[in-house]
Amino acid sequence: MVPRSIAPRSITRQTLRFILEVARESHPKEFAALLENHGGTIDNLIFLPGTRGSDGSADLPLHNLPLGVRVAGSVHSHPVEDRTPSDEDLKLFSDTGEVHIIVCPPYTESSWSCYTWEGTPARLRVVRGP
Ligand code: ZN
Repeated sequence: MVPRSIAPRSITRQTLRFILEVARESHPKEFAALLENHGGTIDNLIFLPGTRGSDGSADLPLHNLPLGVRVAGSVHSHPVEDRTPSDEDLKLFSDTGEVHIIVCPPYTESSWSCYTWEGTPARLRVVRGP
């Protein structure tokens, strides 16, 4: 369990584009990171030291989380065109905050989904950054 932030309602377009870019570069390996939230808007990714790209499920070494970071949720990529959370994903979701993004090929601005920590689809508005 990591410290939770308040539930985010939106993500900056810049952050979303960065996520898609990293996912594209990592393909066919998965990438995973945590989402940081300021005032209800996701505006930063936290890459944990020791994160491995895997072919199966997102693997986040949560014990490497820097102190004081408020975690809004997680993001990871799937190498196939399916953004359904796996059982491992659901376990990760329940450990790491309120909102969880899964992206998949072709990694465009329409190839992502957002879920609650319970794995039900959630809405996240894309907003302009500060
Ligand atoms: Zn997954």
